[in-house]
Amino acid sequence: MSRSDEHIIELKNITKTYDTGFTAVSDFNLYVRKGEFITFLGPSGCGKTTTLRMIAGFEIPTEGEILLNGKNIASLPPYERPINTVFQRYALFPHMNTYENIAFGLRQKKMSEDEIRRKVRRVLELVDLEGFERRSVSTLSGGQQQRVAIARAVVNEPEILLLDEPLGALDLKMRKEMQLELKEMHERLGITFIYVTHDQEEALTMSDTIVVMSEGRIQQIGKPEDIYNEPKNAFVADFIGDSNIFNGIMTGKLKARFSGGEFDCVDDIEKGTHITAVVRPEDVIIVPPGQGTIDGVVTSVIFKGIHYEITVESGKNEMVIQSVHSATVGERVGMKVDPDNIHIMIAEDHTNYFEADINSAFRLEFNGKVLDTSVTKIIRGSKRTEDGQIVDANGDVIDPRKMRIIAAIRPEDIEMTDQVDEGLVDGYISDLIYKGDHYSYVIRTDLAQDFIVDDEYLWNMDDHVGLIMPTEKMSFRLKK
Ligand code: ADP
Ligand code: MG
Repeated sequence: MSRSDEHIIELKNITKTYDTGFTAVSDFNLYVRKGEFITFLGPSGCGKTTTLRMIAGFEIPTEGEILLNGKNIASLPPYERPINTVFQRYALFPHMNTYENIAFGLRQKKMSEDEIRRKVRRVLELVDLEGFERRSVSTLSGGQQQRVAIARAVVNEPEILLLDEPLGALDLKMRKEMQLELKEMHERLGITFIYVTHDQEEALTMSDTIVVMSEGRIQQIGKPEDIYNEPKNAFVADFIGDSNIFNGIMTGKLKARFSGGEFDCVDDIEKGTHITAVVRPEDVIIVPPGQGTIDGVVTSVIFKGIHYEITVESGKNEMVIQSVHSATVGERVGMKVDPDNIHIMIAEDHTNYFEADINSAFRLEFNGKVLDTSVTKIIRGSKRTEDGQIVDANGDVIDPRKMRIIAAIRPEDIEMTDQVDEGLVDGYISDLIYKGDHYSYVIRTDLAQDFIVDDEYLWNMDDHVGLIMPTEKMSFRLKK
């Protein structure tokens, strides 16, 4: 059986607010086609597991409805749903052998021994574990145990299999193998798979459809290639692949200014429009200084097996480049990008994004100034332990100093002042557009990053201004 146009599951305006008052999933609208391999992809804490648990019936949505084959299943308990779940921590019964682990659910249903034997044998074949019937599960490898867990779920012949980071506990090599096996299994079984992962590569390899999530909301739904090639917003672009993302403005016909240079592009967007430009690392071409669109200085070179990952600083902006040719740290280079490879999104809300550093006290810094927030407020579910380490929502230790934080602030939340030292940054007005009831300004700073500011008062071109940006008006997220 292959994918059909029939919708096996539909989520309509689903919201989940926990007793703590925390909204983990907001206004989800989504359908899943029968036989589809669909993946929820997003960072830890974005609401993936919560969504799966609502589909499985372990959590009740606060609002909205879930349809199964067109019927509302709000009142259907988990065991009456034709749905089974495979978890990351697969919780097999350690004192039972492989056969008994798989047969357990069927025994509960009081099936005849004959039928149980037939079914277990068939799924053992499916997961490639024939001959393992009598082996104690505690003697199996991680990959084999995970296959038993999958067999235990599919032996119930569900219409839908939910898989919550099922490969998360395996090492990289095993994970790659299991990805392919799971995909084959999906083809063979012909049932619907709803898969959860925070690993973008895994999602791109396995899925028919990807649902990119952030902070409980759907950011984009699409085929892997569409999500990779045409990300709908800066979050998706950053999360899928290692993109360079810049704020910018259209400066002429097929011309966009960002990262301190004016690039030719193929998007015919009106002059003066604020944009977000995305450039993939593999699309940046290094040329001699002065011969590209912008120049910069190489700050790091890492050999990645097939290519080098080269970071170039241009003003305060960074460009990450993948190249088969190496470069030298400290070297000055030029950079150019084929117009086809510059992806431009109209910045509808004109939100300003900028990268902040994390200092040794786990506080955020931008432009040499400390922001009034800390890492634990930004990474959802993280806390500082007694011995001063930071752990994430799963209790795993993380090193925030290796992370970069992207801060966002809306144009109307920035205030301009002629006391330039009072601002978090300062710059010169390089563009202004009257928008009916306010002016929209582009402020060029010496960070080579433009900020967009809305203000009801008229300032003049080239005015030197400080930008006051209150931390409480900013939102933050981790850069991958
Ligand atoms: P993911 O699977 O994407 O990592 P989850 O769905 O597990 O995310 O969690 C989303 C958010 O909801 C997290 O911030 C988490 O702390 C919170 N959360 C999850 N379960 C509960 C619960 N039972 N009570 C309160 N908050 C919860
Ligand atoms: Mg989860």
